[in-house]
Amino acid sequence: MTLIGNTPFKEPDKTNNKPPTSIPTDGSQWGYDLYPDRRSGQETSNSVTNYLTGKGKENLDKIRCERNVYRCIKESPLVKLMMGALKASGCAIDIRRHISCEDCAPTVSGGYDPIMNQVVICQNTARKVGLVQAVLTHEMVHMFDFCRNNLDFKNLDHLACTEIRAANLAHCSFVSAFLNGDASFFYIKEAHQNCVKNKALSSVIAARDVSKEEAMIAIDRVFDRCYADLEPIGRRIRRNSTDIDKAYEEGFYYGYG
Ligand SMILES: [Zn+2]
Repeated sequence: MTLIGNTPFKEPDKTNNKPPTSIPTDGSQWGYDLYPDRRSGQETSNSVTNYLTGKGKENLDKIRCERNVYRCIKESPLVKLMMGALKASGCAIDIRRHISCEDCAPTVSGGYDPIMNQVVICQNTARKVGLVQAVLTHEMVHMFDFCRNNLDFKNLDHLACTEIRAANLAHCSFVSAFLNGDASFFYIKEAHQNCVKNKALSSVIAARDVSKEEAMIAIDRVFDRCYADLEPIGRRIRRNSTDIDKAYEEGFYYGYG
């Protein structure tokens, strides 16, 4: 998911000449309503007082989240690969500057904030290391696209493209492994494409003011080109290499909805 809306200000409706609808002031047009810590300014206090006044749970969530992030950066082949690719593209990640553990709305696990150039890990919902890895990999695909491609998150086609790529690289890569040996190649191919389309669709509509139909049309429009673009993972890790097997065995790809 990305935090910025495709239509920050509603265009006038030219069909019946209505004036633009009012601009929300709470940040919801950017998806910030799902990330309250983004909107209100960060609270970073870890003091003992917080433990005594009921802020303790949030702090424990943050500590666990940061520990999981650290473990992924040390151990996860895909997170390490994405970090290497970002560095090679001139967008090196500084963990303290570019990754932030925060409380979010219960419906999201993570996000990418292109204005702050930060990956958000939702400490209250992404509680397991496998999910943290999936979120990190997914959001780093957005960060990579933003770094490499002059991505415009306000453009629905651009947004659809980066969500297709994130779904393809971070979520649906191993769909074929779940299928029995008797599944035909064409069935596997179709199941995989459906996985990517469904995941991209849910990401696009999750925090955007677009209809399912608009999102699906945009996804179909850019699908072939963006689905085929496997940078930076496809070029660097061959299918069935030991790194992929390791990531898969560790179950890192389950549960990121
Ligand atoms: Zn996304």
